[in-house]
Amino acid sequence: MNILVIGGAGYVGSHTVRKLVQAGHRVCVVDNLSKGHRASVAGVPLVVGELSDRKLLTRVFAEEKIEAVMHFAAFALVGESVAQPALYYQNNVSATLELLEAMREAGVWRIVFSSTTATYGQPDKIPIAESTPQLPINPYGFTKLVIEHALTDYAYAYGFGCAALRYFNAAGASPDGDIGEDHDPESHLIPLVLQTALGQREKIGIFGDDYPTPDGTCIRDYIHVDDLADAHLQALDLLQPSINLQLNLGTGRGHSVQAVIDACRAVTGHPIPTSLEARRSGDPAELVADSSLAQRVLGWKPSYVDIEEIVSTAWNWHQKHPRGYAS
Ligand code: UDP
Repeated sequence: MNILVIGGAGYVGSHTVRKLVQAGHRVCVVDNLSKGHRASVAGVPLVVGELSDRKLLTRVFAEEKIEAVMHFAAFALVGESVAQPALYYQNNVSATLELLEAMREAGVWRIVFSSTTATYGQPDKIPIAESTPQLPINPYGFTKLVIEHALTDYAYAYGFGCAALRYFNAAGASPDGDIGEDHDPESHLIPLVLQTALGQREKIGIFGDDYPTPDGTCIRDYIHVDDLADAHLQALDLLQPSINLQLNLGTGRGHSVQAVIDACRAVTGHPIPTSLEARRSGDPAELVADSSLAQRVLGWKPSYVDIEEIVSTAWNWHQKHPRGYAS
């Protein structure tokens, strides 16, 4: 298929682009490179432009004979969304609604959309299934939920074929270490811990140790970025007119912040100093996926379930690219 990947030069986008190309799809990436990296999609046609640029999208749809869209271009930091909600509603909602309209106008009806566990807020019950009420507790989660609803309505009224994939914590890197995670500034746990192992940071701060979890630190479900990418390809294959999928993507295994740091110690052989910091506002104590629906519907299964294995792929990338793509 001819596929437009918006935000394809970002972390999850670039890993998915690679898999799409390997599977024989013709890919065109649109990315404004505000967070993405040109080097992450080397050899793939890249148009540098904005998601909100309707003219640009219309031209790309026609020139590249686009048949499907994968949409990764979003702001995705909880704290930032609380401080700057306008940014989130503009980009994640307004610009995405423009994209849906551009698709409708061009007759493109297939879309795979990056959604998130943040749409669930602080669920009472773990693991989280798709039937868990979606009650987001921050603007980021709300913006993603709005688009999930828009997709449901577009599927019903206009025959769009949609898949909203609710990622848990994306982690790891391509096993060859050629592409990986590079945010500036970095705020995610595993890259920060590995930067500490590389000597780029003195220590890693642990955001709270008084949560109601066995060791008091927050528990997350870390899912390998290549497993996320595989799910996108499998979801694409299932898209038919009026199909509307919403699927959780996680391993079903939870790891505390402390356990992740220990896994990084084991993988890197570095002591990794820590400090105890205040809780980060908006952090739920525990988020672990029930991904059985995705496994049934897509025939998908995470190939990485061991946290040390996931960390190893990230460590390989960080060692090869100590300053990310700037290396
Ligand atoms: N975390 C931490 N120290 C850091 C960064 C993150 O203790 O320097 C914790 C954070 O509070 C959360 C977990 O690590 O419980 C994962 O955070 P991350 O930002 O990687 O992903 P999120 O869960 O926010 O999507």
